[in-house]
Amino acid sequence: LVPESRRKDKQDRATVEQVLDPRTRRVLSKLLRNGVLRALHGCVATGKEANVYHARASAPEGGDGRDVAVKIFKTSILAFKDRAKYVVGERRFQGGYAKPRNPRKMVKLWAEKEFRNLMRLRDVGIACPQALLLRDHVLLMSFCGDTDGRPAPRLCELGRARADPFSTADEWSALYTEVAAAMRRLYQRARLVHGDLSEYNLLYWQQKVYFIDVSQSMERDHPYALDFLRRDCHNVSAFFRAQVERSGGGSEALERVLTARRLFEYVVAAVEGSEESEAALLATALRQQREALQSGGAALLETADDEVVFEAAYIPRRLDELDEEDVERVYYDGMLRPANAFEEQRGGREEAGRDSEESVATTDASDTDGETESSAAND
Ligand code: ADP
Ligand code: MG
Repeated sequence: LVPESRRKDKQDRATVEQVLDPRTRRVLSKLLRNGVLRALHGCVATGKEANVYHARASAPEGGDGRDVAVKIFKTSILAFKDRAKYVVGERRFQGGYAKPRNPRKMVKLWAEKEFRNLMRLRDVGIACPQALLLRDHVLLMSFCGDTDGRPAPRLCELGRARADPFSTADEWSALYTEVAAAMRRLYQRARLVHGDLSEYNLLYWQQKVYFIDVSQSMERDHPYALDFLRRDCHNVSAFFRAQVERSGGGSEALERVLTARRLFEYVVAAVEGSEESEAALLATALRQQREALQSGGAALLETADDEVVFEAAYIPRRLDELDEEDVERVYYDGMLRPANAFEEQRGGREEAGRDSEESVATTDASDTDGETESSAAND
């Protein structure tokens, strides 16, 4: 009886605390009343963690305001849980400072992080939406897309878009160069790792690739930053390689797109002395890969890549299995230690893996609420 009612309570909470809960409505109507927004239009996207709306801002002189994307982070416990893995080891939580236990506060924190990260990306010249305003868990940013509210296509949609502007291997190569260079810039200059980078979080707009969805992006000294970076590299490499192959560049794919491991090395490599441009360094990395390909063959490169995929998949999967109390406990008890250098990762990971295992053993398996998750994703 007890677990039953507990589960029901949880479901209710997850359903009620959806995007347009009273608190959210209050924030939005205030923005409309204050004249920050002139109109709130349709929903652009619904996700597990946030919904995005298209809106029109008020123009000071009464004309047409600019198009705005309103990202509303969900206050459900599930979204919190899903994101907990990114908070583990966040520097600002160290030393007992700021330990939000309340999911609503957590969600405000995600919104705040996205806001700050968007500004950091802009500061180093990476194309991304401009952060405009933050109220609680509601974030206003510039809208990438048509004024009728149709968002710019994500890269995953480009290949199958109605008027497909990308059909040749050359065009995909150019896009790849842009994304890889921005990844390096993000790491080297903004000192961040995106953490959820893939063709789903890259928009193609006004002839440029825009990076979005950066609420989970982490400092590069986050204990798992390099694990997330490996996964980012794997996603980007796999996607672009497939596109180059599909658009007729079949055998050239490995000449045009770095393997995940080489992309990773390109992103993190410190370059002494002169500031070589990201594009020049990428060209060098691609040349080296071509040379390796000629001497060692594709099989060698593929094997190295499998290793990367395995390593990248490991930590996030373990952390997914923890619930929020475990994550907090594991972290706040100081059981996880940062592993900063690439070489130190192996040792760091084993240690973290052991800790995770212990925590999982004490986790109530009925706590994973798959049902609630699907109902939350349906709104
Ligand atoms: P989630 O965490 O739910 O994936 P995202 O930030 O990726 O949140 O936003 C979800 C979707 O909303 C994106 O895939 C994109 O289509 C759209 N979107 C997000 N931000 C913008 C923006 N600034 N302009 C246009 N569309 C956007
Ligand atoms: Mg997204």
